[in-house]
Amino acid sequence: KATIRLDKMLANLGYGTRSGIKILIKQGAVEVNGNRAKDHGMQIRPLEDVVKLDGETIRYRDTVYVMLHKPAGVVSATEDSRDRTVIDLIEDDDVTVLSPFPVGRLDKDTEGLLLLTNDGKLAHELLSPKKHVPKTYRSLVTGAVGEDDKIAFSRGVTLDDGYVTMPAQLSVLSRHPAFQAEGDSADNDGEYANQLADAAKLASAMGEQTLSWIELTIHEGKFHQVKRMFEAVGKKVLYLRRVSMGPLLLDPELSPGGWRELSEDEVDSLR
Ligand code: URA
Repeated sequence: KATIRLDKMLANLGYGTRSGIKILIKQGAVEVNGNRAKDHGMQIRPLEDVVKLDGETIRYRDTVYVMLHKPAGVVSATEDSRDRTVIDLIEDDDVTVLSPFPVGRLDKDTEGLLLLTNDGKLAHELLSPKKHVPKTYRSLVTGAVGEDDKIAFSRGVTLDDGYVTMPAQLSVLSRHPAFQAEGDSADNDGEYANQLADAAKLASAMGEQTLSWIELTIHEGKFHQVKRMFEAVGKKVLYLRRVSMGPLLLDPELSPGGWRELSEDEVDSLR
């Protein structure tokens, strides 16, 4: 929702506590669009309404940049009639009042780094096919990913619709026998123990012997690109997480569903 309570807005901007602001409003110190504000709970559209305190115009900040660790099961949209959206995860008026939207999309079952902003110009630049902003993914894939796949991805593979991908960098982090990974989550990458166990169950059910943890960097963003690239080499993505986008790295402090605003340095690095 694109409004915020008047008292909350002023408190967020540092003009006092909610109760102090209530008193200011009672005293008639606050004006909204030329009228004396009477209701401290009135809803303000901070980018449109003109709010004055003691005759001075109050400016709400006009941009917001959020790093979200998208969990599986939510969609990369601002509204959806069926599914929870990434915006639903940001339960903070200060941020949602500025109407951030996701910069690009991750599939519903993909986790990891998603940038949200209301800065249309920056979003456009990051998504521009001409800019080739690198995006790095970690993924659990069926089979033993190897040299052949690295070479194929570095040259470009043909997707199901005939599109040939740009050169991409693939590295294999580790390989796991599916039957062992299923029973034993004590892998050498403890952070992903649950994902490995889940993927191993899937792999076993599919009759797969081996699972590979890989890291892949692509410089474009076709629909379902990572999944389709592996399909092109006869393998299936069982788990996918984006770990970076351009200079922005997924903050390891954020667990799935967690978010924070970007630092100024991070915002600058994107420009
Ligand atoms: N590639 C995919 O297949 N899915 C994503 O969500 C992102 C990249």
